[in-house]
Amino acid sequence: MIYFDNASSTIPSKECLDIFYEASLKNYANPNSIHKLGVENFGNINRVRERILNCLKLDSSYEVIFTSGATESNNLAIKGYVLKNKNRGNKIITTKIEHESVLNVFKSLEKAGFNVVYLNILPDGSLDLGELKREIDKNTILVSVMPVNNEVGNVLNIKEVKEIVSQFPKCVLHCDCAQTLGKYKFDYKLCDLFTISGHKINGIKGVGALIKKRKVNIECLLDGGGQENNLRSGTLDYPSILSFAYTIEDTQRNFDKNYKNIEVLRGFLTKELEKIEEVKLHTYELSTPYIVNLSLKTKKASVVVEALSNKEIYVSSVSACNSKNEEPSHVLLALGESEDSARNAIRISLGKANTIEECAIFIDFFKEIISTLRSR
Ligand code: PMP
Repeated sequence: MIYFDNASSTIPSKECLDIFYEASLKNYANPNSIHKLGVENFGNINRVRERILNCLKLDSSYEVIFTSGATESNNLAIKGYVLKNKNRGNKIITTKIEHESVLNVFKSLEKAGFNVVYLNILPDGSLDLGELKREIDKNTILVSVMPVNNEVGNVLNIKEVKEIVSQFPKCVLHCDCAQTLGKYKFDYKLCDLFTISGHKINGIKGVGALIKKRKVNIECLLDGGGQENNLRSGTLDYPSILSFAYTIEDTQRNFDKNYKNIEVLRGFLTKELEKIEEVKLHTYELSTPYIVNLSLKTKKASVVVEALSNKEIYVSSVSACNSKNEEPSHVLLALGESEDSARNAIRISLGKANTIEECAIFIDFFKEIISTLRSR
């Protein structure tokens, strides 16, 4: 089996499962209970928050709100901020290539009457900063831009975005960093709010965080027991949170080593894929090596993905959230690809456990499948 769909989800590490398992058996008390076990767990969780902030080089002007993952964090960041601050302005800005958990939030806020702008991406994969400068104004309260895209892996110029946003004191910058953590060296201090998720970095599913500057006020979306400073109700899941912290630390500690290995794999894959006539590789000025995206010029991507799957090689056509519908990739369309090209994309997303041998086997099978289809 060769698993090349790590941008969709990753295998959890044994260590993070062990931590989860042990804490589940030992530290199961509700952290909000006032007895000793509860109080201990509450303290434990606060120490975990500090570990996460330290690991991401953030000081105590930031706070961590634990959530179920990136979808919830994006909703809480964007809806939560906008609902709390709607008296300050009515305009919000994002890009055309965000994940659905950002784009669909913007669409629903648009329906609710907000003035919404979806920025263009230039063909080199960077954000059109000129357009941002033209659009942002005194009425703009939030800009949301992902540093690394989940479908094609292009890296966006957040430093420049931040410089522009900073000129508007009422406006905050949110970044969906679900595909940034572990895949790109990023300065999280650039964000006023940002989103991370455990299962994208070899952690367990169902845990993530919204990290924000304390002074940035948001409205809670889930009413209930008032946990997380009244910002996210629901019993805190200490075992998942502890395991998540380990995973973040492990990811950051091994960042350079893993990145270098993946660069070698990406180099091999792109060199081989370029030789295949039917393949159009999507490459950008700046991108993470963890994601390789290509379009098939004359063949159906879904047929090739299925044929690979029959050989136990797992890649995806566009992103997993989108792959069950026949719509062309909104990301590739925004990057100037034709409908046909955007409909026939294949994403190979690498993980730290992948090897050069796996890449070679993949290339062999891929060529074989293409040549079989050629002769049909
Ligand atoms: N944002 C991005 C950029 C993603 O890639 C994903 C997962 N595909 C999400 C958000 C949603 O993440 P989660 O599964 O943790 O809700």
